[in-house]
Amino acid sequence: MKNAFLSAAASVAFSALLALTLRPGPVRAAQTAAPSPEQTIAASAAAATEIPLFHAQTYDRSVLLPVLREGETVRMDLHTYLTGVLLAELPPDFSDEARKAQAVACRTYALRSDARRRHEEAAVCTDSACCMGWTDPAAVSAERRAQAEAAVDATDGLAIFYEGRLIDATFFSCSGGMTEDAAAVWGGDLPYLRSVPSPGEEGAAHFSDEKQVSLAEFQSVLRSADPAVSFPEQLGAWVGTVTRTAGGGVDVMVLGGRPFRGTELRKLFGLRSTAFTLTLTDETASFTTSGYGHRVGLSQYGAEAMAREGKSFREILTWYYRGVTVEAASG
Ligand SMILES: [Zn+2]
Repeated sequence: MKNAFLSAAASVAFSALLALTLRPGPVRAAQTAAPSPEQTIAASAAAATEIPLFHAQTYDRSVLLPVLREGETVRMDLHTYLTGVLLAELPPDFSDEARKAQAVACRTYALRSDARRRHEEAAVCTDSACCMGWTDPAAVSAERRAQAEAAVDATDGLAIFYEGRLIDATFFSCSGGMTEDAAAVWGGDLPYLRSVPSPGEEGAAHFSDEKQVSLAEFQSVLRSADPAVSFPEQLGAWVGTVTRTAGGGVDVMVLGGRPFRGTELRKLFGLRSTAFTLTLTDETASFTTSGYGHRVGLSQYGAEAMAREGKSFREILTWYYRGVTVEAASG
């Protein structure tokens, strides 16, 4: 049965091939002389037949992205670029739907960066601290490469839009339970980047962390940032009022009588996030942080938790980016 089927299929394919190969050349004739109506019809019919044979290229493979890599701008097709980004940005044990959600977010980020030329000559660079990380797909095992490629292929050409425009598809590792408003971190409000609950992240490596510095270092770091700070004898008076953002981050914390933004304290003390509490003892200042990253947009560990609950990549994306649509970028 199997052989009979194969041979029938092969015979059909061979006939189609034969028909194309033996077809007289109206297309070539039409290029050199004005075509007769019959020739035009024959040419269109022939072209329509040929398209599947010569246009198997996907959207991602047809887009060439200028990428700044090791100080040089290289043109990379979007499929190769996104495969490398997934390899660099996501752990290999993540679920398929989480990986697809990440692929769409990264494609959106890349296309938007291309339109705005984030770097002078390049759309993006391969520095994870600036744009997104990138691991050469040729440098990993065939199995890992296939896993990343499958997520890129399954979402080929799809991007995220808000009111018809590509969104700023920011993402981060782990929120600690709640994502953050864009306005709380970068000042500008974006309606699709608002604080949302992000349950199920407890298993993430940096769901909660502690960072300790000596009291002397604590004082000196703050003093170098604002020389007007003062630290009275009473330790309890060192920490003043604290206001918090919608996503549970520190908005402003008064320390040594001076106001500090949560984002500034994160940088000054190298904290994993702005969502922290501070405890002072006679010898140490200890920060307990929730989550890892700026906490705006898609949470990678939150996406993984949703995927494990059976949610699709579209459900994941429309949870973390509010009011958006997931559509073909080419459309
Ligand atoms: Zn960059």
